[in-house]
Amino acid sequence: MVSPVPISAPSRAPSAATLDAIRGGSFARWDAERILSWSIENFHPRLVLSASFGNPEGMVLLDLMHRTVPDVRVFTLDTGRLPQATHDLIDRVRDRYGVAIEVVFPEPADVVQMVREHGQNLFYESVEKRQLCCRLRKVEPMRRYFATAGVDAWIAGLRREQNVTRTDAAKVEIDDAHGGIVKINPLVDWTHERVWDYVRDHNVPVNRLHKQGYPSVGCDPCSRAIQPGEDVRAGRWWWENPETKECGIHVEEESHGSGI
Ligand code: SF4
Repeated sequence: MVSPVPISAPSRAPSAATLDAIRGGSFARWDAERILSWSIENFHPRLVLSASFGNPEGMVLLDLMHRTVPDVRVFTLDTGRLPQATHDLIDRVRDRYGVAIEVVFPEPADVVQMVREHGQNLFYESVEKRQLCCRLRKVEPMRRYFATAGVDAWIAGLRREQNVTRTDAAKVEIDDAHGGIVKINPLVDWTHERVWDYVRDHNVPVNRLHKQGYPSVGCDPCSRAIQPGEDVRAGRWWWENPETKECGIHVEEESHGSGI
């Protein structure tokens, strides 16, 4: 059985109580289960989990949420450049949990124009061109989704140890890049080992490319396996410096100059 068709409506601003709790740092000591319970109680069904199907964190969160909310909302971005393994996992998850995955696509005209102007593999040529591709295939579709999907809060699988650009991520924050809705990062203080322990203990489905050395699976041309001892983020946009390695989904353009 799949979850109902999602409501279609603009997002709503957070309540005064939520804003006070965020500003007061109330969530800092809560564990992931408590953060998720609070999120579900306050926002479901205007709450959505963002899952890339290329990281175990999103699958752990889905498993945790599904225990309480069988019709948990899940959305993912299909950039048009994902590997087959990711598409296969999306269908496996759909079958196992019985949830309808809200798959979000780029605007076709934007992609056509970009490819005509810069070629299929523009991302290897410069940081600016890689950011253009990420913007058209990920950031803009996500903005359009949040503007119309009736979402007041979203859940992400960010962890602080993932990247130098994520070290100050909070468990609950206001997402100014998406109209001031609430962004929730329940796993922000989890370690890599803790995530994988959960996957093993609960037999959570994950992307099969992890077994081939991919710590994180994004678009096919921009992801690769890493060697033992390499940083876990070395498999994404490996030709760039760590400071530029974000697609813009989790980084405000204003604060990082060129976060996308
Ligand atoms: S990860 Fe690579 S292919 Fe995917 S949107 Fe970004 S630059 Fe384009």
